[in-house]
Order: sequence, then C-alpha cells, then structure tokens
Amino acid sequence: MYLELWWFLTVPIFFVIGWVASRWDRKKNRIRKQTKLKDLEKLVLFLTEGNQNDAIELLQNIIKDYERSFYLQKALGILFRRHGLYDRALEIHAALLSMRRVESTFLDSILIDLVKDYIGAGLYDKAYQALELIEHETYYPQALELRLKINQRLKQWEPALKTLKDLESYCGKEYENLRIHFFCELIENGETEYKKKLKEKNTDHRRAKELLSNKNEISFEPGYFICNFCAAKFDYFFWKCQLCETWDSCERLSYDKS
Ligand SMILES: [Zn+2]
Repeated sequence: MYLELWWFLTVPIFFVIGWVASRWDRKKNRIRKQTKLKDLEKLVLFLTEGNQNDAIELLQNIIKDYERSFYLQKALGILFRRHGLYDRALEIHAALLSMRRVESTFLDSILIDLVKDYIGAGLYDKAYQALELIEHETYYPQALELRLKINQRLKQWEPALKTLKDLESYCGKEYENLRIHFFCELIENGETEYKKKLKEKNTDHRRAKELLSNKNEISFEPGYFICNFCAAKFDYFFWKCQLCETWDSCERLSYDKS
C-alpha cells in the first residue's frame, strides 16, 4: 500500500487539535461550574435578605439544570406559596408526588406542603383530604397543628377542642389559653353548656371573666389597637388577630379615634 509522506504530517496536527479541544471543553466546564456556584451563592443571599422575587426568578433558572432535584423543586414550591402564588405552589408540590423513587417520608413532607398550599388557597376540604394521607409519626404533630389551624379558620370549635386534646397528648404540653378561647367562642355561639366547663377552669383570663360576668367592657372598648405580634392596626378590639391569627395579641394604641 502506497502512502504519501505528507499523511504522516497530519498526525501531530490532529493531536494538537484534540488537545486544544479538550482544554477548551475543560475550561468551559470550569466556567459553567463557577457560574452555577455563583448562582447558588446569590440564591442564598436573596433568601437571607428575604428578597423573594429575585430568589424565585433565580431558582427557576437554576432548576433548568437540576430538573430531577427533589429539594430544589420543593423549595421553589415553598417560595411560590410564601409569595402568595398558591396555584403554582400546588402545581409543583403535586408534581413531586408523582416523582419516581421518592421515599415515603419525603412523600409525607410533600403532603405537609400541599396542606399548607391548600390552606393558603382556602381549599380546606382538599387540605383535610391531604392530611388524611400522612402516615409517618414524624409529621404527626405538624399535621395536628395544621388541622387545628383549619378548625379555627372554619370556626369548627368542637373539632378544634378535639384536635387540641390530641396535640396536647402527643406533645405533652397544655394549651389552656387556646381551650379557654374555644370555650368562649362556643358560648358566644349559643352553646351554653360550655359555661360550666369554663367556670371549672377558674381562670383569670380576661375574656372568660367578661363572658362569665356577662359584661362586654373589654370587647367594646373604643380606640385604636395593634397586634403585638405582626403590628397590624385595627380600629376595634380583637381576641385573635385576623392577619397573623395570634390570640391575645391585641394592645391599645390610643383611646381617641378622632
Ligand atoms: Zn397579628
């Protein structure tokens, strides 16, 4: 077989081209990794600053490279919920349920997120249904707290008393303040048999005292009021803040409304 001499000259040329190409690829990979790391650093900064708009936008970009990442998808869903975008949060968390090879404890953690999304969206029936699917004991107290939240939102005071009892049995703590408020709510709704239970508590709570003495002095106090938990202002007295849902957080700002 006849080979011309110049063919042998192509060998080092191809070698040089291959070497340059591999160096170029390595450089590109290094730049890509550095960019991803910088994006993650920026994400941590945005989250620390509470800059949710930028955090959501950046996380959406990062996820394009990690579509199968359970934690990043879950985090994006949580950010959407915190931003009030409940439909998008539900979309992401519901999609995670169908992911392959997800451990059952992870499934329960997604269900907890779904319950929170449903509560935010006001879909309480769906939230109750999702709560029923939670199996692991690890999530039991969280599930009870969420159930109690829904009970209160829907003003289901008798179920709320039952959930409270379950929570107390599980956690070994007592939430007497909440129980007193639930009794008061029931009494105000005409369930007078709870007056006896409230009396048995022999409590110094202002609301219980007012209710048992048939005086509405506190509830009808004029003036401006503030929630000492979330700083929301109201022109009426309240036992539970409508915004942050904290009981007994009302403080008077001024007596004069004018
Ligand atoms: Zn509040």
